[in-house]
Amino acid sequence: MVYPETIEAVGVVDYDKWLEPKRFEYKPQDFRDYDVDIEIECCGVCGSDIHAASGNWGKHQNPLAVGHEIVGKIVKIGPNAKEGLKLGDRVGVGAQCDCDSTCIACVESHENNCRNAVGTYQSKYKESGIETNGGNASHIRVNSKLAFKIPDNLPSEVAAPLLCGGITGFSPLLQAKVGKGTKVAVAGIGGIGHMTILFAKALGAEVTAVSRNTKKEQVSKELGADHYAATDDDDFEKKFKDTVDVFVNTTSSFTGSSFDKYLSMLKPRGQLYFITAPPAHEQLTLPPFKLLMNNISVHGSAIGAPHEIEYMLELASKENIRPWVQTVDINEKSLGETWDKTERGDVKFRYTMTGYDKFFKH
Ligand SMILES: [Zn+2]
Ligand SMILES: [Zn+2]
Repeated sequence: MVYPETIEAVGVVDYDKWLEPKRFEYKPQDFRDYDVDIEIECCGVCGSDIHAASGNWGKHQNPLAVGHEIVGKIVKIGPNAKEGLKLGDRVGVGAQCDCDSTCIACVESHENNCRNAVGTYQSKYKESGIETNGGNASHIRVNSKLAFKIPDNLPSEVAAPLLCGGITGFSPLLQAKVGKGTKVAVAGIGGIGHMTILFAKALGAEVTAVSRNTKKEQVSKELGADHYAATDDDDFEKKFKDTVDVFVNTTSSFTGSSFDKYLSMLKPRGQLYFITAPPAHEQLTLPPFKLLMNNISVHGSAIGAPHEIEYMLELASKENIRPWVQTVDINEKSLGETWDKTERGDVKFRYTMTGYDKFFKH
């Protein structure tokens, strides 16, 4: 059987051999009148894919197809789907595939904080209990509210990483009202971080890229960063104390991070944003005294709300914002190898899996 009865996917079938993903089929939840089915064209490889596939976030779903930076074409659309979408449209889906549209978060247009949010993979639909599988698959079925039209001038493989990594770094900039002249620091020059630099520059900010050593200095400048701060610099505090209004931490591990130094960069009333989810055992202590003496506020931010995603895509289209992407044609072997490279940081700066029409029977 193939679509529409079942969906072909490639993913983890044995967590002990997670780097050897295999082909499998799954049956999606029944189609609702506000859903869309998307024939997938390509999908970005997010850091979350590695956490989920390796079992870092638990080993409870088996088999599991990850991938939540999806671009594809609508091949089925419900009569009550979101206005503006139609059959054949090229759309993107990020890390969220469902919301209840009725809770306090949804009513206030913060659907990303929905009390009944469903993640695009390794999550469960509330009504059916059916587990979700992501974008390393022939198709995906989602609530049309979480499917976004891709502007014509954005190539699919470049648009894909925006749907999770891009919005995750962009949303804090909107929440902090970053604009012309705002001084923004971005720690972690990787998948999310490089897109955060691109968006902060597009909003008119003065950007400082922050990393452990000078290895990423050249590339940060190429991305448009105005300044570069290496935390292993002996003169770090002398050079960078009191230099930023908004600090976005995109690093995916707290081990070896220098939060004391990060905090020293913030001006009075500065804002610190956490946007990534390190492994569950990694905890972080922030010194209250340091926070209160400088009126620092600490924020968490998860992906982004639909209206923020729409604005991001519009801005990327208008300002020609292009994440740095390496494409890889998908198959069992190449997907495992790409996860391995992503985990080792051997990427500049995002992989997008392509060639879906060759691997899956569309
Ligand atoms: Zn809700
Ligand atoms: Zn992600």
